[in-house]
Amino acid sequence: MATKAFSAIAGAVTALALALAVGIPLTPTPAAAQNRTAPPAELKQITNDLYFFYEFTGSNAVFMVTDEGVLVIDTRTHPRPGQALLDMIRKITDKPIKWVINSHFHGDHHFGNAPFKATGATFVAQAETARLMQHVQAKEMARRIDGFKNQGLDPNEVKLVLPDVTFDTNMTIKLGGREVRLMYFGPGQQAGDTFIAFPHARALFTPGAFGKRSMPNMAFTPSVDSWVKLLEQVAAMDVDRILPAHGDVATRADVKELAAMLADEYAIVKDAVAKGMNVDDAVKTLTFPQYKDWRNYNRLAGEIRALYELIQTGKRSYLD
Ligand SMILES: [Zn+2]
Repeated sequence: MATKAFSAIAGAVTALALALAVGIPLTPTPAAAQNRTAPPAELKQITNDLYFFYEFTGSNAVFMVTDEGVLVIDTRTHPRPGQALLDMIRKITDKPIKWVINSHFHGDHHFGNAPFKATGATFVAQAETARLMQHVQAKEMARRIDGFKNQGLDPNEVKLVLPDVTFDTNMTIKLGGREVRLMYFGPGQQAGDTFIAFPHARALFTPGAFGKRSMPNMAFTPSVDSWVKLLEQVAAMDVDRILPAHGDVATRADVKELAAMLADEYAIVKDAVAKGMNVDDAVKTLTFPQYKDWRNYNRLAGEIRALYELIQTGKRSYLD
């Protein structure tokens, strides 16, 4: 895992700082090794105090380092990669981990919480995220078991660590002279989607609701229309950089592009439902060739089925 590669280059702090400025390639996961096009995991320094851990095959994390302590967004998919993230932070600073924010309920963003809990950090999540973290814990574990096995991770090591503090629509955290703004605009990809602005860095963290040229999982959203509106709102925000929960650093134009894709996909599937096409025929005939180069295009059949469920029944059976 990443820890090994990181400690191998961690000899001199100055050399490390230099390497961080250009982005250090870390060890690819076994999943990355199978996918030749997947870039290796990498820690990118965004500003003097803001870092973006980018793992194409897993999930990202962001941390802000100040004289007063560290704020972390998301903790990866399991306590071991979570510990590797903590080790990376410890190569940069020995200041206390003050805050950990979990951006949404998916396990690949909070199953690494345990090592951070042991540091005494205060955990924060939006109220719906906190509720769903508990409510669908078993399902979140079940859909990750194969991934854990492929990476040699023991599922029994995962412990549910819930937030100490929840918020409904807004929360501001002050740390080391900076303000970090947590915002909930309502459900996008799911209830609880938390956006986090770093005004001093003109950067915005986005949760599962956005990934650059990536077809998202449609099983959790209560309204694609609201999701599209939310992304359009985010694309209009006064920021320079988007730091997403999945995929590389992006721009507001990338957010707009996803909004357009979602609207397009939803309209086409809604039209098929309105014409009385059954779901199996829809999966066969709606091939969306315009998105064949997008990430997760291979999940299209599942996404069409999930949209059929939403349009025909209004239900989100995963969240039952
Ligand atoms: Zn995720």
